[in-house]
Amino acid sequence: MGKSSKDKRDAYYRLAKEQGWRARSAFKLLQLDEEFNLFEDVRRVVDLCAAPGSWSQVLSRKLAQNVPAGEAPTIVSLDLQPMAPLPGVTTLQLDITHPSTLPTVMHHLGGEPADLVVCDGAPDVTGLHDLDEYIQAQLLLAALTLATCVLRPGGTFVAKIFRGRDVGLLYAQLKVFFERVTCAKPRSSRGSSLEAFVVCENYTPPEGFTPTLEKPLSLPSGGSEGWIAPFIACGDLSQPDSDATYHLEGGAERVSLDPVQPPTAPPYKRAVEMRRQNLVQ
Ligand code: SAM
Repeated sequence: MGKSSKDKRDAYYRLAKEQGWRARSAFKLLQLDEEFNLFEDVRRVVDLCAAPGSWSQVLSRKLAQNVPAGEAPTIVSLDLQPMAPLPGVTTLQLDITHPSTLPTVMHHLGGEPADLVVCDGAPDVTGLHDLDEYIQAQLLLAALTLATCVLRPGGTFVAKIFRGRDVGLLYAQLKVFFERVTCAKPRSSRGSSLEAFVVCENYTPPEGFTPTLEKPLSLPSGGSEGWIAPFIACGDLSQPDSDATYHLEGGAERVSLDPVQPPTAPPYKRAVEMRRQNLVQ
């Protein structure tokens, strides 16, 4: 991601670097936790679509308080992209929509269920809104399918969602599995974006439900009514507004920090290498 002057004036972008987070997304999970107390008694978590790893950093800092001294929480993080290692976190390069991913995740959980599954997954956007919305919904359903296979009863699932036209159908599908489903918008998520997060509490699969990847979950079809989830804006109002740009104090003296973790495999990597070779020759 290039550094535009707008990025530099985005308070969360700067705060992330100053506080050592790999991405500004860290604040979204922190603000969701302020509202929902997500990490209470959580020791085993799966972080889906985790690169570059700021949510995994938050998890590793927060969950360390939940285990006795000398023990470590179990954090399994996966993404299509390679992730630079994080202490105490198992990082895997995997596709959450692929059937072989579940057994690998279970293996790294040591066969024990997870207390919490989080997913901040976003596909590469095409700019075609209907297509983008459809692919995002499919990613969320893939995350939910995986969550139904690894979560313990009573567990929590948190996932990014885009509040598009058919979002009521997604809420309805989530409500089949969880007692409470809330749509939450952290202050660090830009108000101008359709992005929000579903916080699904108390995993209670329907009687007789057998979790499987054989029959992936799908949106209810044919005249389903959908369901409207309660909406909560979270994060202290005194915290920066993510749609505002802020005046940078210090003028020319101000130092722009480098990213905490440079991208490991950015799409422009080859172009940079080719340019370097041309310059060398
Ligand atoms: N939560 C992360 C953090 O705090 O650093 C940021 C996640 S980023 C917004 C979205 C991620 O979703 C990207 O890294 C992308 O590679 C990943 N992703 C998209 N589709 C995926 C898939 N099918 N399987 C695994 N990861 C996927």
